[in-house]
Amino acid sequence: MRFSMRSRFALLSLIAIMLLPQICSAAALNGYGDRGTAVRDAQQALVRSGFNPGPVDGVFGPRTLAAVKAFQKGRGLAVDGVVGPATLAALGTVTLAARSARAPLAGKTIVIDPGHGGYNPGALGVDGSREEDNVLAIGLHLRDLLTNAGAQVLMTRSTDVEPSLAQRVSLANTNKAALYVSVHNNSYKDPAASGVMTFSRYGDARSQKVSTVIMEELKKWTGMTNKGVEQGNYYVLRNTSMPAVIAEIGFMTNWSDVRILKTAVFRRSAAEGLYYGILRFLTQG
Ligand SMILES: [Zn+2]
Repeated sequence: MRFSMRSRFALLSLIAIMLLPQICSAAALNGYGDRGTAVRDAQQALVRSGFNPGPVDGVFGPRTLAAVKAFQKGRGLAVDGVVGPATLAALGTVTLAARSARAPLAGKTIVIDPGHGGYNPGALGVDGSREEDNVLAIGLHLRDLLTNAGAQVLMTRSTDVEPSLAQRVSLANTNKAALYVSVHNNSYKDPAASGVMTFSRYGDARSQKVSTVIMEELKKWTGMTNKGVEQGNYYVLRNTSMPAVIAEIGFMTNWSDVRILKTAVFRRSAAEGLYYGILRFLTQG
C-alpha cells in the first residue's frame, strides 16, 4: 500500500490520538471515579497511615475521596481530593516508613491452613466456584506478606491436596508455632447472608484477641460486614496448643460474595486484612 505525505501524516496523527489516552493515563493524577493499580496503591498507603478509604479495591469512590481529603488536611496539603504529586509524595513517605520497619515478624513461626483441598472442595459456590480454590489463593498471598515481614511460614497445604485435620494440627504443634490461622469461606441457608466471621477457641483469651483484631482488619481491607467474632468448637481449635483462629471470609451461598472471592484484587485484600491482624496481634500483644 502507498501513502501520500498527507495521508501518512493523517495516519500518524491517528496513531498519536489513539495512544494519547494511554500515555496520559500512565502519568494521570488519580481522582474521584478513577480505577486501577495506582488507586489501589494509594488506598493501601492510606490504610497504612491510619485512614479508611473503604475497601482496598482500586476504585476511587466516595470513601476514598473522603480519606484522601482527610489525609491532605492532616498533612497541611491543598485539600483537593486528588492524588497529585504532593499527596503522592506524602503517601510515598508513609509507604517507605512502613517498609523500613524491617522484619517485624522475625523469629515468629506462623501456620497458615487453607481449608479443604484435593478431593474435598469445601463449600461449592452458587456459581460453581470452590472454597478450596479461594482459600488457597488467599493463603498463598498471606504467606508472601508474612514471609516478607520476616516470619517463618508453614503452610498446611500450598497446592490442591488435602491433609487430614490431625496433620494440620500436628504441623503447628510440633513446630511450636506462635499462631495458627485457618482460612475458610462460609455458607448458610439464607442466600442473603454475606460478610466475615471469625472463630476462636472456647475460653481462650489470646485466641479471642487474635480473632478480634483479624476481624477489625478484614473489615477495613475488604469492606465486608462483621457477621460475628465467635467461639467455636472445632477440631483444629480444640487440638492446637497456641492461639488459633478460623477466618470465614465471605459466603459461598451469596452471589455477591462468590463473585468478588474469585477476583485477584479481593483475594489480595483479604490476605492483607489477615496479615495486618496477625501483625497487630504478634507485635502489640
Ligand atoms: Zn471450609
